[in-house]
Amino acid sequence: MLDVNKIRADFPILSTKIYGKPLIYLDNGATTQKPRCVVDEIECVYTTLNANVHRGVHTLSQQATDAMEATREAVRSFINAPSTKEIIFTKGTTESINLVAHSFCQQFCSEGDEIIISEMEHHANIVSWQLQETIKGIKLRVIPINERGELKLDEFEKLINPKTKLVSIMHVSNVLGTVNPIEEIIAIAHKHDIPVLIDGAQSIQHQTIDVQQLDCDFFVFSSHKIYGPNGIGVLYGKEKWLDRMPPYQGGGEMIGHVSFKGTTFNELPFKFEAGTPDYVGIIALRKALEYVKNIGLDSIKQYEDELLQYCTAELMKIDGMKIYGTAVRKSSAISFLVNDIHHYDMGMLLDKMGIAVRTGHHCAQPLMEALGIEGTVRASVAFYNTRDEIDAFVAAVRRVVSMF
Ligand code: PMP
Repeated sequence: MLDVNKIRADFPILSTKIYGKPLIYLDNGATTQKPRCVVDEIECVYTTLNANVHRGVHTLSQQATDAMEATREAVRSFINAPSTKEIIFTKGTTESINLVAHSFCQQFCSEGDEIIISEMEHHANIVSWQLQETIKGIKLRVIPINERGELKLDEFEKLINPKTKLVSIMHVSNVLGTVNPIEEIIAIAHKHDIPVLIDGAQSIQHQTIDVQQLDCDFFVFSSHKIYGPNGIGVLYGKEKWLDRMPPYQGGGEMIGHVSFKGTTFNELPFKFEAGTPDYVGIIALRKALEYVKNIGLDSIKQYEDELLQYCTAELMKIDGMKIYGTAVRKSSAISFLVNDIHHYDMGMLLDKMGIAVRTGHHCAQPLMEALGIEGTVRASVAFYNTRDEIDAFVAAVRRVVSMF
């Protein structure tokens, strides 16, 4: 069992008031709040350790480099990757996907080759590939969803053909909450020798990830969604792919030797880390991972799943409630509309009652098109949310409904 009161005390922002009401933060799918240990670590790095990494012989630079590399090891261990060579720091999930799209397509795709994604993807996992449609002439194939918001797996297998070069799929939908059967997707793709990228932006914070057990070829996530600093992302990739992929950006650190006659590149993972990274944020990410590990992802999953089920059951009691995404396996997010109340109106009125939810298309416009709507209200829970908060949220939704 989680000691939620003790956990809440670690997150200073949770005692904030909005319009004089206690903040009820249910926008965890967009970003998570930061525990004191992460905030303190950022201050500590700037006040005791700040020096550019990987370049200096002086003590501070070496200490900062060691601390940054300690996070690389912490990330490796967190997702059980075989080697730190396979852990690349980026700006976020978005940059990680763009890196793979650009570099993988440059090396392995020619005109007419195909990449499979799904109808429920975030724009980061759509537009990154669409850019390659223009640059490399590749084509996107899209797995449709059923009425519960689950992928149609039988349709997936039909999309695979000799031109398929990669499958790129989200683990958990940021809109529907659907947990996709990535184990099956990876097995099917690998049967045809096709690599798979998993967008873990909405799964890394809610369940244990073991990239060796999954056998995915790439796994990407953002630090800010797992209680870490903003502007940091991770790309895990199997060495066999990363080794053959060309650099994504040029600059300092990613080179072996530079000359006007020709330049050689650094080894993994540095080949993909051009320029000064946000080493302060990277160092603090280790604190976030340790924090999550100490609570335990199994306990987190159990607690959050119960909260999600409770919230769903309570919302369903409201007349006119329609929940988008009723998959058998769900995590964290509930998207809904009530009668014809506009999602913005619902979101703004909830905000006046201190409740933070997300409204709109959630960077998934093709999914909205498939659902035949413009947007939803989305509540997304984290382990610091409580049943009392869910009760207050549901009561507030009822109040909004009664106003219309
Ligand atoms: N994929 C999914 C499933 C997401 O939920 C998000 C963030 N909403 C992203 C990608 C993009 O993440 P970021 O903005 O941190 O790069």
